[in-house]
Amino acid sequence: MPSKAYLNPADAIEHLKTYERSDGLAVDELMNSKIHGGLTYNDFLMLPGKIDFGAHEVSTESKITRNVTLKTPFMSSPMDTVTEGDMAIAMALLGGIGVIHHNQSPEEQAAMVRSVKRHENGFITDPVVLSPSHRVEHVLDVKERLGFAGIPITDTGALGGKLLGIVTNRDIQFRSPSTPLSEVMTTELVTAPEGVTLEEANDILRDSKKGKLPIVDAQGRLTSLLARSDLLKNQNYPLASKIPSSKQLYAAAAVGTRPADRDRLDVLVEAGLDIVVLDSSQGNSIFQIDMIKWIKERYPRLEVIAGNVVTREQAASLIAAGADGLRVGMGSGSICITQEVMAVGRPQATAVYAVAEFAGKFGVPVIADGGISNVGHVVKALALGAGAVMMGGLLAGTTEAPGEYFYHDGKRVKTYRGMGSLEAMEQGKPGPTSAANGAMNNGAAKRKTTYENAATTRYFSESSAVKVAQGVSGDVQDKGSVRQFLPYLYTGLQHSFQDIGVRDVQALREGVRAGKVRFELRTASAQVEGGVHGLHSYTKRLFA
Ligand code: IMP
Repeated sequence: MPSKAYLNPADAIEHLKTYERSDGLAVDELMNSKIHGGLTYNDFLMLPGKIDFGAHEVSTESKITRNVTLKTPFMSSPMDTVTEGDMAIAMALLGGIGVIHHNQSPEEQAAMVRSVKRHENGFITDPVVLSPSHRVEHVLDVKERLGFAGIPITDTGALGGKLLGIVTNRDIQFRSPSTPLSEVMTTELVTAPEGVTLEEANDILRDSKKGKLPIVDAQGRLTSLLARSDLLKNQNYPLASKIPSSKQLYAAAAVGTRPADRDRLDVLVEAGLDIVVLDSSQGNSIFQIDMIKWIKERYPRLEVIAGNVVTREQAASLIAAGADGLRVGMGSGSICITQEVMAVGRPQATAVYAVAEFAGKFGVPVIADGGISNVGHVVKALALGAGAVMMGGLLAGTTEAPGEYFYHDGKRVKTYRGMGSLEAMEQGKPGPTSAANGAMNNGAAKRKTTYENAATTRYFSESSAVKVAQGVSGDVQDKGSVRQFLPYLYTGLQHSFQDIGVRDVQALREGVRAGKVRFELRTASAQVEGGVHGLHSYTKRLFA
């Protein structure tokens, strides 16, 4: 028998050139095929490329608006169970951005923007402050509620007042609760001047052997506080999203497109807002177009993210009006019933690809909003042209999300609700059918409505007699702190880029555009195969 004539293995790479096309599909073959309909992230995969670098070398830097670049492409949704001040600060420290929701009064929202702008890692910029006429019982109350008793005393009893003294645990021991603090406070103070670096302040605190170091301005007014107990906890945040000139964290917040939102925006800009997100489920409206034009005239330096859109035609209107970024997604959110009720929306992968391809021609970045439930979804959104992803459900169970944890069916959970849920539209009145609501203790929900409800305006329901829900209310499992979770997403992303064989977002985009990064459709059975299968039982631990 004649032996089979094999090709020379040394020619394997050269031999590839004899094939008409590379393995897998180019992105336009995947996304523009007439055979299947719109695609979701789960409907396709990317093929592996060649690894010639370490995962730690991968950069995930990416633009979210014309003028804002983030080191990590992560944003948190403007939802009242996702992003308030704590989340916005943590997201920015970790290299992303949190968009503060507007289902609260303009003043409350502005206070959160201010807390982001004032945040300096290590410094407490909103310390508890008392006045000399407060009494020992007030300190005892703070101690019981918040666990500390080292409190600066100013003439006004507030930050910004003239620093007069400090009370500590030792000062109030054995004193009657009615004693005024003027009689017990320590007035020999070690302070540091405003502008001191964290390192210098740490040295002063160490040498002074005190528990707290008040920071004061040239007039002796209290501007912040450093706590010894925080020294050990201080972390470095090399990826932090900071404005290059001022080194302040970026602050982003959402507003609607009603006339009252112009006043709201004035208050937010006054507080230091850098990026405004126009929050609407269907962004292609004359209201939004007028709002963009108005903002661009009044605040030319404010970055405007418009949306939501899912088609080129919607995007074109908002780009022409002056949008600096576009939020893409309709019906893909985990709490969303828009597609079911409205029969309007678009599968998210197709929406991201269509809008990003179009907007990219005008230099307008897009944010893939909704439906992100794992690292792979983030990679796919970026490959389809998104500059960042926006997440609600994935972050709602973290410590930094608003609301308290509670137990539901033995699991530690937090409330997560759609902004188009009746619960959000009615500002947290417990609904009879929602299991989670009975245990709900959401900060935003407890406040009074003295402003137009953001949830109703987002869904154009403010003038309707009957409120039609476009979202649900439920709960999500405890995820720990964003400070551990976001680094997991970031590191996961770096490893995925390494598998694909691209070192950064730019290379990923160019590879996709040039047809070098290849895709594959996943049949229903391929999706089953790609998940865990055939096990009697297992636990899914995602990171350590
Ligand atoms: P998730 O990350 O999949 O949970 O989706 C979050 C996104 O869903 C948000 O950023 C909004 O764009 C969108 N969204 C928020 N509330 C609702 C709702 O009630 N109905 C539909 N979509 C919503």
